[in-house]
Formats: sequence, structure tokens, C-alpha cells
Amino acid sequence: MISDKLQKTLQSIREFVQTDVLPLEPDYLNRPFRQVLSRLRELRSKAKALGLWAPHLPESHGGPGFTLPEFGRISEELGRTPTGHFIFNCQAPDIGNTEILMEYGTEEQKANYLEPLIRGDIRSCFSMTEPECPGSNPVWMNTKAVKDGGDYVINGHKWFTSAADGAAFAVVMLITNPDAESPYQRASQVIVPTNTPGFRIVRNIPVMGDAGEDYASHSEILYENCRVPQSNLLGEEGKGFAIAQHRLGPGRIHHCMRWIGICERAFDLMCERAAKREISPGKPLGSRQMVQEWIAESRAEINASRLLVLHAAEKIHHEGSQAAREEISIIKFYVANVLQRVLDRAIQVHGALGLTEDLVLSYWYRHERAARIYDGPDEVHKSVVARMALKKYGVNVSL
Ligand SMILES: Cc1cc2nc3c(=O)[nH]c(=O)nc-3n(C[C@H](O)[C@H](O)[C@H](O)COP(=O)(O)OP(=O)(O)OC[C@H]3O[C@@H](n4cnc5c(N)ncnc54)[C@H](O)[C@@H]3O)c2cc1C
Repeated sequence: MISDKLQKTLQSIREFVQTDVLPLEPDYLNRPFRQVLSRLRELRSKAKALGLWAPHLPESHGGPGFTLPEFGRISEELGRTPTGHFIFNCQAPDIGNTEILMEYGTEEQKANYLEPLIRGDIRSCFSMTEPECPGSNPVWMNTKAVKDGGDYVINGHKWFTSAADGAAFAVVMLITNPDAESPYQRASQVIVPTNTPGFRIVRNIPVMGDAGEDYASHSEILYENCRVPQSNLLGEEGKGFAIAQHRLGPGRIHHCMRWIGICERAFDLMCERAAKREISPGKPLGSRQMVQEWIAESRAEINASRLLVLHAAEKIHHEGSQAAREEISIIKFYVANVLQRVLDRAIQVHGALGLTEDLVLSYWYRHERAARIYDGPDEVHKSVVARMALKKYGVNVSL
């Protein structure tokens, strides 16, 4: 059931995306990010003027106050074009950092980081994964913060810190309590302004043919005797994982609904092509049963995905992320794989055209392969689901 308020917002977003955002897409696909940034900024201003800015925010922070399942519907709508979330200022990783700062930030942190983030004056990044340690095992990391006077002195090596290039600050996951008995209580999250001496972007890592810059970057970063005040700690020391858990549940809903938006766009393109492209006079591609099968399978998988994700979102909304662990893991691997299949079928229907930059499909085919890896690879989430099932049968399997 969609409320009138949400329905109106979805309609306004749909019209804005159609008339203002989609025309920018060909340039976005074919030019470096910085060359389209000024036009993206114009659209951000327009989204603000239309009252559609930051639709994830609660009323207490000037937002519309939608619930997680309701924002999921918006995320789907915005997912239909690669720049949707950025234009509306609800893009990862800023959205996750906003949520953390709203929940755990001190008044000073909120004034210095949260408010400018909400206004869209600055961007941020989340710096956890390290090249030397398996990101799939989040308790294993080398980056450390040692107390010195009133400061933390940080040393470590991170990579795949998305959107670090041009970000004003990083939320860094690091070890502050190496002797804590539980490995889950050794890490903390600390805010590091990117102009701090000792914060150094080594390079923007080229990913799937994209050199990556600015918001579209995935950076390798060295923290070399990087000194920040201890007041930059988010929440309590040793609670880094508890905070991350809080962030990851809603974050997976945002991603999965965005992927469903991508699937819907790919589905439209696939059907349009199947209807219009004739393979012999008077015979459209869609007259072929193999193509019909792709359409039918895609329709069923997208519908199933949406129901699964909204169900998980409802459970998080009512019972919290911890209670919804199984549902969150199910959607993470299931929808990521539906996304790969739908994009692949849509490209196949287009033939050679599907591989060109004339369409958005090839962009997504490259960029969204990562969906099966970030926020936990498929295998980790499948293990969680299987472990929870087997536990009910008396089998205890550790990861
Ligand atoms: C596009 C992109 C953006 C990212 N953005 C960020 C970011 O902003 N900030 C950040 O900190 N990190 C980010 N990451 C990093 C991401 O979170 C890690 O890549 C992910 O956690 C996996 O860690 P890893 O790459 O070290 O792979 P590893 O941990 O080395 O795992 C490699 C492979 O081993 C297999 N595997 C792992 N564990 C198991 C298991 N238990 N059972 C069976 N098989 C297993 C999986 O197939 C996995 O893909 C990003 C990654 C990508 C690709």
C-alpha cells in the first residue's frame, strides 16, 4: 500500500528524471565525470527547488520522513538512471555516513560534517577494506589508531574507498582496542578530514575500464601518522562493528531497490527492442520464444526481488537490522544475481548495439558486476542463510 504522499513524490521524481535527468545520460556515459559535474550540480539545485532533495531524511533533519520501505520505492525510481541518487543527494556512501552521523554523531560532529553533507556542500567516503586483508572477513584489518595526548595517530593502508577523490572527510574503520577479547570489539569508526596531514590518496583505481575520478572514484589510501582529535570518534570505542551493522541493513535495502530500478529500465529497453527490431520482414524479435522466455523470466525475477526486498525493509523497520539478518542476506545475493541476468538478457536482445555506449546497458553491465562483491560477496551471504537454516536442524557451522 503506497500512501498519497509517497505516490505524489514518486510521480514528481519520475517526471523530473524523464524530462531533466535522462537527457544528460549520453554525456554522462561518454565523458569523464568532472566534465558533466557542473550540469549535475544544476540538476541538484533544481531537485532542491522542487522540494525533492534528500528524500531519505527524517523530518527532524528537514526531510520528508519516509520509512525505510517507502524510501526503498524512491530508490528504485532513482535507480533507473546512473546519476539519480547523486542528483537527489541520497547516494552511497554519503547516505550511510549521514545515517551514522544522525545516530551517533556528537553535536560538534553534526555541525561540522552532517549538516554540510545534508546541504550537499561536501561529500564523504567510507574507508574500511584493505588490500592486504580479506574484506569478506571484516574483523581482520591492520589499520590502527594509537592514542597520543588528546589525539589518535592513524597508520594503515586502505583501498576501494569509493568517492574518496574530492570527499571532505572519510569515516575510517580501524583498530583502537587490539586486546579486546572479542574480535568484534576491537575496531572503532573515526572521522578523518581528507586535508589532514598524513591522509594520502595513492591513486584512483581503474575499475572495469573506468579510470574513476571525483564521485566516481575508488581510491587506494595511505594513512601515515595521520593525527586527528579523539573527539572525532563516532559513538564509543570498540563499537565500530555494531555501528557498521546498523548501517549495513538499510544500506542493502537502498542498493537492492536501486538495482531493481536498473532492472526495470533494462526490462523496458529489452521489450522495446524485442517489439521493434524485425529479424525478417514483419517478424519482430519478440515473436521468438527464446526472447519471450528472457522477458518472462526477467519479469518474474524482478517482481520476486521487489517483494523480497520490501519484506526485508518492513522487518528492519519494525524489528531492526539484527532481527532481519537472514532476509538481508537473502536479498543481497538474490537481487545482485537477478541484476546480472536481466542486464545480460537485455544486452543479448540488442545484439552489437547492446555493447555500445549508445545505451546505458553496457555501463551497468560493467559497473554492477561489483554488486556481487561489495557489501559482502554472494558466498558470504549464502553461508549466512544456510547456517541459519542448518542451525534449526542442530548443525552449527562457523564461517
Ligand atoms: C565497486 C566497489 C566499491 C567498493 N566500495 C567500498 C567502499 O566504499 N569502502 C570500503 O571499505 N570497501 C569498499 N569495497 C570493498 C568491498 O567491500 C570488498 O571488495 C568486499 O568486502 C570483498 O572483500 P575483498 O575484495 O577483500 O575479497 P576477499 O575477502 O579476498 O574475497 C574474495 C572472494 O572469496 C570468496 N569468499 C570470501 N569469503 C568467503 C566465504 N566465507 N565462503 C566462500 N567464499 C568466500 C568470494 O567469492 C569473494 O569474492 C568496494 C568494492 C567494490 C568492488
